[in-house]
Amino acid sequence: MAEKDILIIGGGPGGYVAAIKAAQLGGKVTLMEKDELGGTCLNWGCMPTKALLHGVEILESLETGKEFGIQAEGVKVDFVKMSARKDRAVKILVSGVAGLMKANGVEVIKGAAKLLSPRTVQVVDEKNQTVAYQAKKIILAAGSVSAPLPIPGAQLPGVIDSTGALKLNRVPESMVIIGAGPIGLEFGTIFSALGAKVTILELLPQVLPSEDEEVASALEKSLRRFKIKILTGSRVRGIEESTGGKLKVSAVTGEGEETFEAEVVLVAVGRKPNLEGLGLQEAGVRFGKKGIEVNSRMETNIPGIYAVGDVTGQWLLAHFAFAQGEVAAENAVGRKAQLDSLAVPRCVYTLPEVASVGLTEKEAKEKGYEIKVGRFPFSANGKATVLGERTGFVKIVSEVKYGEILGMNIFGPHATDLIGEAVLAMTLEGTAQDIARAIHPHPTLTEALREAALDVDGLSLHIPPRKKG
Ligand code: NAD
Repeated sequence: MAEKDILIIGGGPGGYVAAIKAAQLGGKVTLMEKDELGGTCLNWGCMPTKALLHGVEILESLETGKEFGIQAEGVKVDFVKMSARKDRAVKILVSGVAGLMKANGVEVIKGAAKLLSPRTVQVVDEKNQTVAYQAKKIILAAGSVSAPLPIPGAQLPGVIDSTGALKLNRVPESMVIIGAGPIGLEFGTIFSALGAKVTILELLPQVLPSEDEEVASALEKSLRRFKIKILTGSRVRGIEESTGGKLKVSAVTGEGEETFEAEVVLVAVGRKPNLEGLGLQEAGVRFGKKGIEVNSRMETNIPGIYAVGDVTGQWLLAHFAFAQGEVAAENAVGRKAQLDSLAVPRCVYTLPEVASVGLTEKEAKEKGYEIKVGRFPFSANGKATVLGERTGFVKIVSEVKYGEILGMNIFGPHATDLIGEAVLAMTLEGTAQDIARAIHPHPTLTEALREAALDVDGLSLHIPPRKKG
């Protein structure tokens, strides 16, 4: 049986970054991937959705353009072309990863791999041949799959998940989306902007249930402006076929029993770790419902076997998988590394965007911190005003004793880029005063972060003073 040094199962963000890092550190790396390199993120997640969202942004900019005296006539959207461009972008990115594997001397084996024992991996390759390998170190990075919705009718044709939504070859006339997490909201934004009548049904009382309440409520208002109908606190009971090729979704909403007809039903109720067929039992790797159990060094209970990315069920986010992948790689080559995951940014690509890091105000209070909160609206930021993107605000939660920033929430233009500053500040255990002390370039949106930091002490310069008492 051939022997490999470091064998990685899965070529998504966790696996491919682990491969590069381990190779950089002198490891001999083999990566096994049953599908395309890049995983869900590049092929069926982050990147294709962002490509479509950018198309939608261009369309929206024509609306803002009217304010600037730019009147576009006869604007037409060719969805087939928009999708083809998305596919081209994905192809470039996937071949980029393939190029990086080659350049770093990583051997890529195409095929479905599984553990046979703590040191043996079997792969069924493209020619349907089964080959087994011994490996000194193994990194599991098999990703996640869409969580099913256990209700009658969930298997009907026309009921799709995010992958199905990316395969649509035309904009449906109507769409019901179940779940108002990032997937539901991003697809809701895309298809409503392209003309579909979108209804979102969310079980919990707010959209993005784990995000700040003020952010969620501002986002909900702005989505309604896009003509998306949102019903929170709604329990979906079942889906059935209706007339005219439509589907009928029954739900208990705030109004009682209601039904919603649509051409397509998108189920976006979360994702779950892809544990099936990985041979975890055979190798004795411990896992639970959430995913494979790992410590901060990404080690599983079996020495020499690591796990990274969605398969660990911690933060199902590509950038968290990158970070875990690097840590696992360092440990696999014999270094000592661990993940300090206090500041994990969360980004939602709605229009405008939502981005946050650390604790929300509610979470900080629940954890018993004495806190101060600073806020600053983009309507008071010069750059946002000239851009015509004045919706939203920055909110900073900091603790009183040392002034350390506990969390930052942004709803507004380019929030997902702006959050980087907060991540750095939190990683350095910075305070709101540190952000305020830093000279921010003018005119930029980053000034809104500084102003929110000043507002923590009631000292924002560009909003009227707070009322005393
Ligand atoms: P999610 O868990 O974030 O949100 C699912 C939503 O569905 C929740 O609000 C939940 O309350 C709701 N829900 C669950 N059961 C329901 C039911 N029966 N009826 C109505 N609503 C129901 O999951 P997601 O949006 O599917 O995303 C999956 C994962 O992928 C998440 O971890 C997410 O963070 C990640 N993701 C991230 C991004 C990003 O970073 N921009 C984009 C897409 C996905």
